[in-house]
Amino acid sequence: MDTLALLGGTPVRASWLPYARQTVERDDVEAVTRTLTADWITQGPAIAEFERALAAQAGVAHAVAVANGTAALEAACWAAGLSPDDEVITTPLTFAATANAVVHQGARPVFADVEPRTLNLDAATVKRVASSRTRALFAVDFAGLPCDYDALHAIAREHGWLTVADAAHSLGGGYRGRPVGALADMTVLSFHPAKLITTGEGGAVLTDRADLAERLRRVRHHGLHYPDGKTPWRNEIAEPGHNFRITDFQAALGSSQLAKLPRLHAARARLAARYRERLAAMEGLELPALPPEREHGWHLFVALLRPERLTADQDTILRALRAENIGVMLHYPLVHLHPFYRARYGCAPGLCPQAEMIEKRLVTLPLFPLMTDGDQDDVVAALGKVLGHFAR
Ligand SMILES: *Cc1c(COP(=O)(O)O)cnc(C)c1O
Repeated sequence: MDTLALLGGTPVRASWLPYARQTVERDDVEAVTRTLTADWITQGPAIAEFERALAAQAGVAHAVAVANGTAALEAACWAAGLSPDDEVITTPLTFAATANAVVHQGARPVFADVEPRTLNLDAATVKRVASSRTRALFAVDFAGLPCDYDALHAIAREHGWLTVADAAHSLGGGYRGRPVGALADMTVLSFHPAKLITTGEGGAVLTDRADLAERLRRVRHHGLHYPDGKTPWRNEIAEPGHNFRITDFQAALGSSQLAKLPRLHAARARLAARYRERLAAMEGLELPALPPEREHGWHLFVALLRPERLTADQDTILRALRAENIGVMLHYPLVHLHPFYRARYGCAPGLCPQAEMIEKRLVTLPLFPLMTDGDQDDVVAALGKVLGHFAR
């Protein structure tokens, strides 16, 4: 067998293959250029146009575009009117921004565990951590697989909680025939270049509720509102907001990108199916479930190591694959075990046992629309080489 690059052998690839990469095409560039030389480069018509397209693709009434996905989460917390005694139930298996947004609003994030099969929030543990102070449920469509929204909504409805979907990974996906964006009271999107469509930095919140949309627009612009439409120079602040604004040229890029979402999604889904075919029988690896009632958004392709079949730990395997020039990643170090969450909320190992077991097994493989079959074959070859080397 070939020597691992980690041990001085020749890497499977000569050049680095990142785990994610944007797809920006000539028409995207032209859309930005046109906007840059128009009358407005921020707060102009391109933003409203992008918002209409976002709302239409999910079939909801309102979309509010903001500076990034984190700002979208914080805007959703502000719109929800969370206050310091409130608790928000969320998953530990997410980018820390999901829980950080709750902290910034002064409320308390409470972590429920995940289902090992889907890696999404487990409804039974959500019930278990609920309290009289719970106000909202922040679900995360991890890797792009929509959560079991019927089960989560049943609990939320029973308790009168607001539901927020962090759909940074799942734009383009769906659940029981309904598109992502229409599966919660508010849906948060990110347009970071690693995500499904990009505006450079950017994000949005989608909602069917006019009252929430009004608050989202207000927090984006310092909390200002104009009580009397006839005197636009007189504004008022009832609650201080933020500057969460996105620019017009980013929104123009967003509209151009959104129009090609079906093609970008199809490219990801094709590569994901090809991965699943080629990795199904790979020793030392397991793949998460794909429940048939859900359309995966395929932001990430995650696989699970089988430690009982391997002689090396996760870090060694990640290091070995990266030495082969395969840009594998770990999504994510669990939120509840970050030093801040341990110190502030007393979170400790054992709080979310399923997530903690899963985290030690996760590997994110490269997946992006411009990746070629040859690139993907390199990933599969490197996995075979590395997992073969460390086979028990
Ligand atoms: C990327 C991401 C965010 C934050 O989005 P930014 O645009 O990077 O601020 C929030 N939640 C999840 C799950 C993400 O993956």
